[in-house]
Order: sequence, then C-alpha cells, then structure tokens
Amino acid sequence: MPLLDLHLHSTMSDGTMTPREIMALARQRGVATLSITDHDTVAAYPEALDLGRQAGITVINGLEVTAHHQGLSLHLLGFGLDHQSPSLAAGLRDIQEARRARNLAIIARLNGLNIPLTLDELPNHRGQTGRPHIARALQVRGVVRSEQEAFARFLRKDGAAYVQRQLLPVSQAINMIVEAGGLPVLAHPGALKLGEPGLRQLVRELIDQGLAGLEVYHPMNSAPLTRCLALLCQTLGLVATGGSDFHGREGDKAPLGEAGGKLPVPTDLLAPLLARLNLNPPPVSRPEADKEQRHAHHPDR
Ligand SMILES: [Zn+2]
Ligand SMILES: [Zn+2]
Repeated sequence: MPLLDLHLHSTMSDGTMTPREIMALARQRGVATLSITDHDTVAAYPEALDLGRQAGITVINGLEVTAHHQGLSLHLLGFGLDHQSPSLAAGLRDIQEARRARNLAIIARLNGLNIPLTLDELPNHRGQTGRPHIARALQVRGVVRSEQEAFARFLRKDGAAYVQRQLLPVSQAINMIVEAGGLPVLAHPGALKLGEPGLRQLVRELIDQGLAGLEVYHPMNSAPLTRCLALLCQTLGLVATGGSDFHGREGDKAPLGEAGGKLPVPTDLLAPLLARLNLNPPPVSRPEADKEQRHAHHPDR
C-alpha cells in the first residue's frame, strides 16, 4: 500500500534533509504522494516537483505559516498554491522581514546583557534564521553549554532576551494562501491543547475567515481528538489532511508517511483533497486510465 504524507520540512526551512534526500527516502519508504510544507517559504519548489516526477512521486505544493488569533499562535498549511504567485512572494517577504527584525531585537537584548553577539554569527539559512540558530551561536561562543540552556536562560518566553515575534493575523495568513490559489488548513490542532469544545469554537471562527480544512492526522493529535476532528470535517464540509511533520531529526515524532503511533496517514484523504484542488488523482494500476491521465494528473499548476 503506497503511503501519503502531507506535512514535512526540508532544509529550505528547519528540516535536515534536502528535497532530493526527501524524495529518495520517500521512494525507499513507499510514499507515493507528499507535500513539502516548509515554514514561511516555497523555496523547495519548483525543484521538488521535478524531483517528484523523476522519482514517480506525486508532489502537491505546500507551505506552513504561523499566524495569531485571539492570543493563540496557530500554524496553517497551504496546499496546491502557485509557488510563483507574486502576492505570495510579497507576503512571505514581509514574514522574513519580521523574522529578521526579531533576531536583531533579541541580539540587542543580549548585547544589553554584555553578550556581544552579532548578526554575522548566525548562519544565513535562506532567511529562516531564528532562535535555534541564536541558541547555537551562544553555545559556540561558550555563553551556554547547550541549546537547551540558551532557551532556558535567554530565548524562551520568560527568558532574559525574549522578544515576541510579530505574527500575521490569521485572516491575513488565510488570504495569502487563498490568493495564491491554495487551500488553507489548520495544522496539528492537538498542539493548541484547547480541548474539544474550545477547538470546535475556534474552527467555527476560522471557517468565517476562510479556513478550508483540518490536519486530522498528526503525531500531536491524540486518538480521541483525531476522531473529533474527522467528525468536524464531515459535518462542516472541511477537507481532512494528515502528515508526519517530519524534519529528518532524531526527535521527530513520526517517520515519513506516518501520523504517530506507527499509524500510516490514511491514503483515502488524497482523493477529496485533490478534488478540492481541482487536480486529478495519480494513476492507479489501470493501464488505460494511466495512458489518458499521464499528462493531466500532475499538480504543477
Ligand atoms: Zn507546525
Ligand atoms: Zn510543520
């Protein structure tokens, strides 16, 4: 049975594997369809689509962005968006700018604490530089012994150099995805720890803003919550998605193609998602259909 994975990260954001390495691993593990959903960037595309074609893997364009809504920090996935959309590029540039401003503010605070760290000491990780990189730089400098210590003393919310990140309002994040032709989906609702009534309320509010789906299957969603989310999708007409949130790290909660607890991401999610994206399903083992669809099924739009 071919596997499906609609949430994973590459070296273009905070993953450790390049898109090419991800495709090789996907082939090895029998993942037939995947989406690389890097934070705040679609830099893996269009290369990921080419690599997918070469490897016989269907690649659905994707990304993950962070937004705020009534004091909550939410992650949204966008699927099937045009990776060349100028409005998307402008929106993502603003996010990078905010990230850079925050790094500078954290460094200013550290300097105020007599730690003369400079921006040059952080790797320019395609604009994705953030607190983990600052933590590493503090370790390299010998200010702290570990990245954990850097977070505990300086970088976490009650740390001495913490600076709040300027996040997009959720309506703006949803619009950015929709304007680029994408489907906005609430990522790992279990991470919000809202409980079922709170989550139901939140989902209703987000639907009013244009939310189109929920990430039902994810390592951070408990089994009861997964059932609740699946039911919400059914009753509210939302698309259900699922993925591993694979980063290629040892701390990953699930390997490629699984949604936690050794359970595969259900492959029957794919057809309704593709239908919503106006994409044809990848060819199954029907030689005639395969011939007809060969040129039509790829999600590169
Ligand atoms: Zn996330
Ligand atoms: Zn993620």
